[in-house]
Amino acid sequence: MAFRQFFQDQTHTYKGGFLNSALIIWTEPEDGLGLFCKQKGYLMGDVFIIYGDQIDDMIRRLIEESGALNRLRPDDTVVIKPNLVVSRPQWAGVNTDPRVVEALIKQIKERGVDRITIADGSGMGYNATKAFKICGYTKLKNRYNLQLVDLERDRFVKTSPAVDGPFSSLEIAQTIVECDFLINVPVMKAHSETLITCSLKNLKGVMPRAMKTAFHGRNLHRAIAQLAGVVSPDLIVVDGLQGDLSSETGRTPVSMERMLLGHNPVEVDSVVADTLGYAPRDIRHIAYSADAGLGNCDLETIRIRKLNRPTRNERFTPPVHFSKRFPCHIRAEGACCTCMGNFIFALERLQEKGMLSNRIRFLIGQKAEIQPEKGTVTVAVGQCAAKKSEADIQLDDCPPSTRDICKSVSSVV
Ligand code: SF4
Repeated sequence: MAFRQFFQDQTHTYKGGFLNSALIIWTEPEDGLGLFCKQKGYLMGDVFIIYGDQIDDMIRRLIEESGALNRLRPDDTVVIKPNLVVSRPQWAGVNTDPRVVEALIKQIKERGVDRITIADGSGMGYNATKAFKICGYTKLKNRYNLQLVDLERDRFVKTSPAVDGPFSSLEIAQTIVECDFLINVPVMKAHSETLITCSLKNLKGVMPRAMKTAFHGRNLHRAIAQLAGVVSPDLIVVDGLQGDLSSETGRTPVSMERMLLGHNPVEVDSVVADTLGYAPRDIRHIAYSADAGLGNCDLETIRIRKLNRPTRNERFTPPVHFSKRFPCHIRAEGACCTCMGNFIFALERLQEKGMLSNRIRFLIGQKAEIQPEKGTVTVAVGQCAAKKSEADIQLDDCPPSTRDICKSVSSVV
């Protein structure tokens, strides 16, 4: 890339050129800022981390140090996409904390922007309209004159993914497609199928319900990479105040006291994977996205900038996978997050009561299959599994509740 001087402000000289048809601006080395994309107005290749629990201060420092909102103009439409999987009161560690979103809104408003929307769709069995109310987003709407959009009620725009995978077309909510600036605000936590979920997987919430379900029934990992090639957030702010190390649908929140900020979802999620105890390439959707040219998952070359020192453990240990945690047979393939979340929570309760044994075989998900076997009891968990099997017990709700799963097993033990 041929460098030339583009412009100067009071503190920096900006040089750059075109790389893969994107305008890349390089600040003077003494700034320590690295690659800066003028089109986007923020840094590429840097992931910022700040530790603590003072949310307003943490967000303000992240935004100021990264310059992440520098390109915002007052007439821009900003959409904030949190992660609102569940619409129940126990949402800590699974849904995005509204205090993080509020701190971001204050920063956006300081830049004269008034058109701010919070938009998401929830997990199976829940809905975002309820989640807005239960988690405190409705209060934010009233306080800051925002729009709240339940993306499952939005219009959708069809698009063809450039990345190889199971889908020839994807449907994306119009609110997301038409905004000027998209901020992805995921939670960092465990996931039963993809091991971790953060910014890449959080984008699944911009699609209609049927397509989200279809992602689980096809190759979820590759489908996430396809989606990442279609929806590219302008900014990612990870709510790492509380996460969950054993389930994507919560109930076992873990205090993590940190936030991350970055531009590239592959880079941000690679740092998150490392924090949660995995090599980035262990997470298949990160590896597929990196291999598709959507970002870098090499921790040696991702620039990580810590703005302060951690207040507690920097890294966490991944849990034993659910398939090895419980003394029973489990065939799980293609199950939605909330189905798996309710199921794992039921297994934990059943284990506490000593009700699990090798005699019990569970079947869950759109693709799970099991052969009949004498002397065993097969439980089909959820409509998908119930439809395809001749299980002894069929729970054909979508998704079945933890209570019903426990009840059904109690009835045969
Ligand atoms: S039964 Fe479970 S896996 Fe099947 S569609 Fe419903 S939530 Fe998803």
